[in-house]
Amino acid sequence: MSILVVDDSRSILAFVKHFLQLAGYQDIFTASSGEEALAFLRTNAKTIDLILMDVMMPGMSGPETCQVIKKDPSIPDIPVMIMTADTSESRLEESYQAGAVDYILKPIRKIELLARVNSAITLKQEMDKVKAHERELLELKHELELANRELSRLVTLDGLTGIPNRRAFDEILKKEWQRSYRESTCLGLLMVDIDCFKQYNDTYGHQAGDDTLKNVANDLNQSLHRPADFVARYGGEEFALIIPKTNIKSTKFVGECVRRNIEDLKIPHTESSVHNVITVSVGAAAIFPRECGSTSWNELIKKADQALYEAKKTGRNRVVVSKK
Ligand code: GH3
Ligand code: MG
Ligand code: MG
Repeated sequence: MSILVVDDSRSILAFVKHFLQLAGYQDIFTASSGEEALAFLRTNAKTIDLILMDVMMPGMSGPETCQVIKKDPSIPDIPVMIMTADTSESRLEESYQAGAVDYILKPIRKIELLARVNSAITLKQEMDKVKAHERELLELKHELELANRELSRLVTLDGLTGIPNRRAFDEILKKEWQRSYRESTCLGLLMVDIDCFKQYNDTYGHQAGDDTLKNVANDLNQSLHRPADFVARYGGEEFALIIPKTNIKSTKFVGECVRRNIEDLKIPHTESSVHNVITVSVGAAAIFPRECGSTSWNELIKKADQALYEAKKTGRNRVVVSKK
């Protein structure tokens, strides 16, 4: 524990230092004026736990020095104890207002000095512990917030492809449905399924299958141009694209672009019954939610699914539009 003693009387400095050291306080620093104390604190404040300060000093008085210490942002919160022979109400009030926490009566008696210093130091230690604990809690809170943010990001992403997952799809579809309902616009949906993918895995292995899923996901992502367009991995080798403010004709057009882009990747699939490269079948649907009801987004999925089924049934590697 380190204590700074400030007094213009050398004998008092020597006396206080002597008794504090006898009591086991090893680091006792002294200053013979308020100015000297400030200069010392501005470079060594972090190591000081308690300041004992005379009231009457030439130059800056004790309360004046105390006030400057409390306001100086470079000096941390250190308890200041005033040493005074004048215990008049006005003198004590001046000291307390300047930020002092306690006082010691002059002439100083050894027993009082040690008792007061002990309790001030104990209090300071407790306060430091509380502050350190608060700091730890704040750090933990911050770490927890970061972890939570990362977690909510991760629960909406597909682990393999890195694009949004089914959970995110359900959420976005509902939001876009309700937005389209409010704004009386048409909402487009494409269901995209890789053709003969079981055969692809059987031919090239599961690892190659995973790589192809990533490539297809990436390509689908790049096929979308408007900020509100959204692609997710819907299931195994099936993807879903939500295209807001788009009628069925334009939805079909986007579906055709998507299909062609995948074909243009030219990922070899020699055992496919459709082509010699990876292809997709696409089911396209578009609905005005206003005409269906504010919670009927499953209708859109159903229609796109039926269209996808038709695309598979009628030869694959094609876009089929849902019937009215
Ligand atoms: P279709 O043209 O009718 O869609 O035939 P398909 O073989 O693509 O469809 P099917 O539903 O019979 O098989 C889907 C395959 O997709 C089987 C499954 O092992 C594979 N698959 C699903 N998820 C993954 C995955 O994460 N990684 C890999 N490598 N394969 C997957
Ligand atoms: Mg398939
Ligand atoms: Mg499938």
